Amino acid sequence: MPVIKVHDKSFETYLSEETILQRVKEIAGDINKDYAGKRPLFIAILNGSFMFASDMFKQLTIEAELCFIKLASYKGLKSSGSVVTSIGLEDDLFDKEVVIVEDIVDTGKTLYNFLPKLLHQQPKSLKIAALLHKPEATEYPLELNYIGFRIPNKFVVGYGLDYDGLGRNLKEIYQLI
Ligand code: 5GP
Repeated sequence: MPVIKVHDKSFETYLSEETILQRVKEIAGDINKDYAGKRPLFIAILNGSFMFASDMFKQLTIEAELCFIKLASYKGLKSSGSVVTSIGLEDDLFDKEVVIVEDIVDTGKTLYNFLPKLLHQQPKSLKIAALLHKPEATEYPLELNYIGFRIPNKFVVGYGLDYDGLGRNLKEIYQLI
C-alpha cells in the first residue's frame, strides 16, 4: 500500500479516488431524490469540504444553490474545540431547504455549536451531509442525514482535508500510520 509523507508524518491509502467518487455519486443520487422540486441551498464549510462539495454538486440534476462559509476549530492533529465564528454567510435562510456540507465530523463540536446560528434564521429544513464520520470520537449529539463513510478514530488527510495546511490536493484519503 503506498505510503506518503505529509510534513513529519506517514500516511497510508485508506479510500481510493474511485471509492470516494462512487460514494459521492450515491449521496448526490439520494439528494436528487429527496430534494426534487425543492431547490435546496447547500452551505459548504471551508476549507476541508471544497472537493466533496464540488464533486457532489456536479452530480446534482435538481435546481440547487451553493455557498461556502468558513468556520475553524482544528489545529494540527487535534481539534482545538473552540468554534470560530462563521465568515461568508450572507444568504437569508428563512424558509429555505438547507443542507450543510461538511468534510468530516469528529467530536461534532463544530457543527453542534454552529447549528443554532442557522436554526435562528428559521430555515424550512436543515440537514447535514458529511463525507466522513468518526462515530467513536463523536461527543456531541448530531443527526447526520447523509454520510459518505464511517471511519475509525484516526487522523486522515487528502481530498480536501489537510494536515497543517498540506495534503488537500491528494485525490485519495490517507490515514495516519
Ligand atoms: P469536530 O468539531 O467534529 O471535532 O471537528 C470538525 C473539523 O475538524 C472538521 O471539519 C475538520 O476540519 C477537522 N478534522 C476532524 N478530524 C479530522 C481528521 O482526521 N483530519 C483532518 N485533516 N481534519 C479533521
